[in-house]
Amino acid sequence: MKLLDLHCDTITECFNHGRDLLDSKNNVCLRDLRTVDQWTQVFALFIPDEYRGQAAVEYFEKLMNCADMLLEKHSDLLFPITAAEHLSAVPKGKCGFIKAIEGGAALAGRLENLQMVYDRGVRMITLTWNGENELGSGAASQPDKGLSAFGKQAVKEMERLGIIADASHLSQKSFWDLCETSEKPFICTHSNSSRVCPHPRNLTDEQFKEIVRRGGLVGLNLYIDFLSNDKKGGTDEVMRHVYHMLSLGGEHIIALGTDFDGAEIDLSLNSAEKLANLWEAMLKLGLKEQTAEDIFYNNAYRFLQSHL
Ligand SMILES: [Zn+2]
Repeated sequence: MKLLDLHCDTITECFNHGRDLLDSKNNVCLRDLRTVDQWTQVFALFIPDEYRGQAAVEYFEKLMNCADMLLEKHSDLLFPITAAEHLSAVPKGKCGFIKAIEGGAALAGRLENLQMVYDRGVRMITLTWNGENELGSGAASQPDKGLSAFGKQAVKEMERLGIIADASHLSQKSFWDLCETSEKPFICTHSNSSRVCPHPRNLTDEQFKEIVRRGGLVGLNLYIDFLSNDKKGGTDEVMRHVYHMLSLGGEHIIALGTDFDGAEIDLSLNSAEKLANLWEAMLKLGLKEQTAEDIFYNNAYRFLQSHL
């Protein structure tokens, strides 16, 4: 089983609790490299909504230093990815490591900070978290003001630099503003279907179909609250989202965005090793092996190959 996961909050767990990437208290544990054939993981540097302006930049730097410290400490197990050609060069026994920012507050409203985060290896930015920031409104922002003028400028500059925009956590208006502003395909790293599980963090069918039309990517989130309204998040619940997304033409855009170490995840699915349970469920429920491989790895790989 090959795995390309578009979202985890493991760096925050390491930073907050002084944990290590070999600590099995985390969902993402590099010991699991032994159980997967290939593993590339996007590690988000999450900026909580209470940080704005310079405080957000300083918090970002602390998380980035933590990520760089872990990369150096585990250089025998990690392989940093900042360009398309690195994707296929991840050696067996190493985990590909892609840096992302979750919460564009890290830019403190300054366009020049995009170059700074790019230079430190960031290749994806989740534009907002649930609240409003300098870039725009998030999924829980009231009123929903959409993307700000700065947010639209930032998206254009990200496209110029080669930083992928992530629409997870955006409000409805921000999402559609992003569609108007962006010229390149964008992704939703960790969001499910709101038709299957109504939640403001999930995608409507219209949103999902728009991402299909643009050749983007949607990562399935394993957080139980985004999978079902009755706090269940096993393989059956995940598969309901998969089937619905497939029915909307998502065969080539569905990926994984587990939300490991950032959400409550069913005990049957809460590590890279245990994702084999989802793999088996896919095959048992009649998905073609090719489709399972596409969801676990190929779709995200192809996208990143074209857009990193
Ligand atoms: Zn998130």
